[in-house]
Amino acid sequence: MRQIDHFIVGGPGAPAARKGDIFDPNNGGVQAQVALGDAALLDKAVAAALAVQPAWAGTNPQRRARVMFKFKELVEANMDALAHMLSAEHGKVIADAKGDIQRGLEVIEFACGIPHVLKGEYTQGAGPGIDVFSMRQPIGIGAGITPFNFPAMIPMWMFGVAIACGNCFILKPSERDPSVPVRLAELMLEAGAPEGVLQVVHGDKEMVDAILDHPAIGGVSFVGSSDIAHYVYNRGVAAGKRVQAMGGAKNHGIVMPDADLDQVVNDLAGAAFGSAGERCMALPVVVPVGDDTAERLKAKLIPAIEALRVGISTDAEAHYGPVVTQAHKEKVEGWIARCAEEGGEIAVDGRGFTLQGHENGFFVGPTLIDHVTPDMDSYRNEIFGPVLQIVRAPDFETALSLPSKHQYGNGVAIFTRNGHAAREFAARVNVGMVGVNVPIPVPVAYHTFGGWKRSAFGDTNQHGTEGVKFWTKIKTVTARWPDGGGDGSNAFVIPTIG
Ligand code: NAD
Repeated sequence: MRQIDHFIVGGPGAPAARKGDIFDPNNGGVQAQVALGDAALLDKAVAAALAVQPAWAGTNPQRRARVMFKFKELVEANMDALAHMLSAEHGKVIADAKGDIQRGLEVIEFACGIPHVLKGEYTQGAGPGIDVFSMRQPIGIGAGITPFNFPAMIPMWMFGVAIACGNCFILKPSERDPSVPVRLAELMLEAGAPEGVLQVVHGDKEMVDAILDHPAIGGVSFVGSSDIAHYVYNRGVAAGKRVQAMGGAKNHGIVMPDADLDQVVNDLAGAAFGSAGERCMALPVVVPVGDDTAERLKAKLIPAIEALRVGISTDAEAHYGPVVTQAHKEKVEGWIARCAEEGGEIAVDGRGFTLQGHENGFFVGPTLIDHVTPDMDSYRNEIFGPVLQIVRAPDFETALSLPSKHQYGNGVAIFTRNGHAAREFAARVNVGMVGVNVPIPVPVAYHTFGGWKRSAFGDTNQHGTEGVKFWTKIKTVTARWPDGGGDGSNAFVIPTIG
């Protein structure tokens, strides 16, 4: 069976005492095993990072940027192979796998401009003969702990910026689909990053705890589910680190009566069901404003959802593939059952879906549930599957209050032709990322990504200038250069030689 090992300087040394199974989502069963590391293995990686970090920080920013340029070229040249590797472990279709890699590469493109972004501030003459300037210095060694659902993009959000800023980076990817992160680290080495600048350690809670407690790691970026994000934030901060920890989501799409419903249905097909709903920026809740809007929307949604093609991840015609594991399939189907028990009306039921020839694959059919209400557990919690819930709102204010009062505040969208309604909504909604007629409002790489409430702990977003802020410390120098005359006068004296 294929074995996936840590990517650290000098290699792991000894065979792993513990291993995790990597499933084949298309067919069920185990396709590979990943080594699960511990504190001793992390120590090795940290020692290697410490050895190289001063030289990497001292490498001028344009040389660091050149490594990023080269890395981007290499990833592009390997796009097909990476996308297939990603799809085989995650289950997302090849087009989505390429999107995952491409959105990560956009952060690498941002990192190629790091010399410009790292320029400090300068004040001449803050006092007599006094100048003040600031510089951004790397925090040293950063770590990233990432989820299964974007095994290329999210690691690149983190290490792209951190490494360009002069840090060494230790990545602990999801143990469910760890192959692509290792391949990215290999390509970074090939691009010219010195050994030890990017290392990958695999593991579960044991490795996460070792990272959070390690005194030489200065900052930890986490993306995953909210309870674990909260835990990671608290433990990391208690150990004196800076921590940003992004959590789960339950994003709403508000549909005003004047919205273009054909466009909305098209957008929802992608945003609610694409990647089997396993996106933190998916749109699993739709809020039609007014019963008439709800009825018209539902009439269009049902045939569109029934027409979605569920297939294996390499099926070029498939709209989406399997979910990541059998356990996750059961969890999603459990939430559908729970929602029905709570009073939701199932309009399209995806439970029990099987794909001919792939009967053991982890497939869930597309599901639509109407008359979902805010008091239901299945509404309050993240389902993370191909399930769309309809919550009807009588008016704009009620629709605005739903995502605003929800425990999660990652993304939200409004569909309308009314500029005033959209403007009001964007200004007042209590959510971090807003789309206006844009179903998945993931900001471009030179802006920043981050939710509010239980969708993010810590106060700095991912990538863009916020990412640079997170991965650097600011130092401010106040310098006084007296005239040098020594006679107390203000005479301007240039030192002479000889
Ligand atoms: P997860 O929380 O199970 O795992 C995330 C990481 O935490 C993994 O590296 C995992 O090894 C580690 N981990 C798991 N259990 C742990 C424990 N008990 N203690 C310490 N570490 C532990 O998340 P997942 O299932 O891989 O990913 C899906 C979740 O991630 C969803 O909730 C989704 O909304 C969220 N997500 C959020 C964003 C965002 O930017 N807000 C982006 C993508 C995914």
